[in-house]
Amino acid sequence: MTTVAHVLDALRNWAPYELSWDKDNVGLLIGSPQNEVNGILVSVDVTEAVLDEAVRLGMNCIVAHHPVIFAPQKDLRSDTYKGRLLTTAIKNDIAVIAMHTNADAAFGGVNHALASAFGLKNIVSLDPPQRVMRKFVCVAHLEKVDPKRIGTYLDGVDGVQWSAAHYDNDVMVYEIILPVWLLREVRKELTGIFGRELIAAHTITLNDAPADYGIGAVGNLPEPTGAEEFIAMAKEKLGCDAVRTNAFEPSKKISRVAVCGGAGKSYIDSAVANGADAFVTADLTYHAFEEHRSELVLIDAGHYETEHVFRDICAAALTARLSAGDSDLTVRSSESESNPVRYY
Ligand SMILES: [Zn+2]
Ligand SMILES: [Zn+2]
Repeated sequence: MTTVAHVLDALRNWAPYELSWDKDNVGLLIGSPQNEVNGILVSVDVTEAVLDEAVRLGMNCIVAHHPVIFAPQKDLRSDTYKGRLLTTAIKNDIAVIAMHTNADAAFGGVNHALASAFGLKNIVSLDPPQRVMRKFVCVAHLEKVDPKRIGTYLDGVDGVQWSAAHYDNDVMVYEIILPVWLLREVRKELTGIFGRELIAAHTITLNDAPADYGIGAVGNLPEPTGAEEFIAMAKEKLGCDAVRTNAFEPSKKISRVAVCGGAGKSYIDSAVANGADAFVTADLTYHAFEEHRSELVLIDAGHYETEHVFRDICAAALTARLSAGDSDLTVRSSESESNPVRYY
C-alpha cells in the first residue's frame, strides 16, 4: 500500500525541498499524508481538465509543478476559478502536491532535462544553491566495528563523498561530504553502527556550492551552429509554434547555451557571465530584450514549452522510486493538459 507520505518521500528524494526558493510553497497542499494512494497524475498545473482526468481515471493524487495554493488563500468559494479547483480536489478526496522550484533545481530536474534536450555537455547551474553542502566528521574506535560495513553503507548512498584515515592504532577519522538533506539519515545510520565506540562527531557547513544542482543550466552544444539554425532547433525540440527573440546578430555562432525553464529574466546576467551565446527561457519582458540586444541570442520559448518536460521526468522519478514497492500503483503524465497560450 502506498500512502501520500510515501509519495512525498519519493519526491523529496528526487527533488529535495531544501533546493526550493525560500518563498515557494512546495510539498503537500491538499490532503493527508496517511491517505492511501491508488494512482498519481503528474501535470504542470492543477486545472479543471487535470482534475477531471484524475476523477475519470479514479486517481486520487495529483503532483503538479506550479503550486495551486501560493498567495494567501483568504476564502474557499466555488464561484471563483481557484476556489472551484480547490473544492473539486477536496470533494473528490484528491491529494495535491506541488514540486516547484525544487524540481527546477534538482539534479535530473526541469533545467537538466532542458539542457539534455539540447544535448549540452559539461552542464553547470546558472545559480548553484549556497550553503547546502555539509562535512560530517566522525572519530571512532574500530575495535568492535567492521570498517567494511561502514564503507559499504557510505558507498551505497548517492551523492556522498567520504574518506577515512587512521588517527591512532584503532582510532579512525571519517570525513563525509554530503548535501544537507542526506545528513540526518547518514548521521543516524553511522552513529548506530559506531554505538559506544564513537568518540566525537561534528558537522561543518561548507561554502562551496555544488554545480550539479540549482536553477538554470549552461553547457556546450556538441557542434557549434548558426543563430537561426539554433532557433529552429529550439522550436523543434520544445514544440514551439513561435518564439520571441532579441534583435540578435544573424552571423553569431552558438556553441555555449544557457537554459532556464519558466520565467528566467533574472538569470540573463548569469547566462552572459557564464559565456552563453544563447539563452532559452520564458516570460521575457520588452525591456529585457531591449537591455540585451546583442550580447547573446535571447529566446523566449514560452513558459509551458520550457516546463512541460516536468510531467515525464517527475512521473519517471516516481515510477522508479515507488513501483518496486507497489506494482498496482499507476503513475501517469497528464494527457488532458495543454498550453493555455496560443499563437496566431
Ligand atoms: Zn519551473
Ligand atoms: Zn513555471
